[in-house]
Amino acid sequence: MGMDLRAPRGTKDILPPESYLWKEIERVVDEVALLFGYDEIRTPIFEQAALFKRSVGEETDIVSKEMYLFTDKGGEEMALRPELTASVVRAAIEHNIVTKQISCSRLYYNSAPMFRYERPQMGRQRQFHQFGIEILGAVSPLADLQVIAFSLAVYQKLGFSNFHLKLNTLGSQSSRERWREELVKYLQFNLDTLSEDSKRRLETNPLRILDSKNPIDQAIVQGAPEITDYLDEADAEHFDELQSLLRSAKISYSIDPHLVRGLDYYSRTVFELTSTDLGSQDALCGGGRYDTLIEKLGGPPTPAVGFAAGVERLVLVLSKLRGGEIARPKPDAYLVIADKEGQEVGIQIASELRNAGFSVIYDLLDRSMKAQMREADKSGTRFVLLLGSDELAAGEITLKMMDTGAQERISQENLANRLKNP
Ligand code: AMP
Repeated sequence: MGMDLRAPRGTKDILPPESYLWKEIERVVDEVALLFGYDEIRTPIFEQAALFKRSVGEETDIVSKEMYLFTDKGGEEMALRPELTASVVRAAIEHNIVTKQISCSRLYYNSAPMFRYERPQMGRQRQFHQFGIEILGAVSPLADLQVIAFSLAVYQKLGFSNFHLKLNTLGSQSSRERWREELVKYLQFNLDTLSEDSKRRLETNPLRILDSKNPIDQAIVQGAPEITDYLDEADAEHFDELQSLLRSAKISYSIDPHLVRGLDYYSRTVFELTSTDLGSQDALCGGGRYDTLIEKLGGPPTPAVGFAAGVERLVLVLSKLRGGEIARPKPDAYLVIADKEGQEVGIQIASELRNAGFSVIYDLLDRSMKAQMREADKSGTRFVLLLGSDELAAGEITLKMMDTGAQERISQENLANRLKNP
């Protein structure tokens, strides 16, 4: 049979047992959110395209090349969301979550699908998933520290330590403008040597030249003016304070003056966590401060900071770390029903056990007792319950403890209690 329907390029079906790894990650993110006191937010998968144009920026790759756009039947231009910060800010303004009063919201999202039309490769997809947090209303570097600490807590809880924290500041708007002017001058001076991509970027998004992977660009970038020389006093103090907080929290980091991130809305702190267990797409998560975005989208002036982490890359690292072994949950009990006459009672026993909190599996294929026993063995169950014609007639059931092999016949009524005290 010819099968020509496939999942779209750059998307992936998440099949068992890998789906258990996803569940584990989602559970850990929920747990860390609870430990840090964050509330979950969920927003629509599509938004007005204008939201991302105004926040992420028209000249960024994400908006200018990678956005999934469509016009809906009402004639409005919509976009599948390429990231979540803009949506969270839109929602926060719309529902007055950020107000003029002094207050702070701590929000998180978990396993949320995002869409970017990129060239798919290992760790880079067109539909991918992110978890992350947004702190709205806090100007203190304490908030920047918490964003970093939150992300680290997730990775640490999942049991790995092979990551590296890169940190930079982009200053506030006025210091960044002064730096940008000098940077553009310097790059223009070196225009002839720059790669074609970077030549084009010089017109549209010159900061992105700093993180170009092209070796020739990189050599030029080495001598470029650095933001740290252009920071105003408040910017410099913020950056210093964050670093001293990181040191006292014993979080190691390195400063990367060329870390700019691909979105327009960042100011002051930016950071990225990379893993040596990933290939060229080695960023596990990234984030930073966006003190002017909320006002720009029509809300009250509100400082904010957050991060977003890729789930696919985390799954890649975790699978590698665990040698490809993914634990599936094992059933508590496997119920073997010898023949059709036993099915009615069997179904009732299974449902009573489930009500008592035990997971129960039974055969759905009317297979022979021997085949059912084989299945039970394979399932890794703790208890095998055998309902044969003798048992049925006597209102009893045979219970086999798989760890010891011990076997006993007990009344069906006592079964749940017996399993509770094996
Ligand atoms: P960004 O939203 O670009 O700051 O990305 C934050 C994180 O999301 C990255 O560090 C990656 O882990 C993940 N990510 C971004 N784009 C993709 C993609 N196309 N495929 C898979 N993961 C991605």
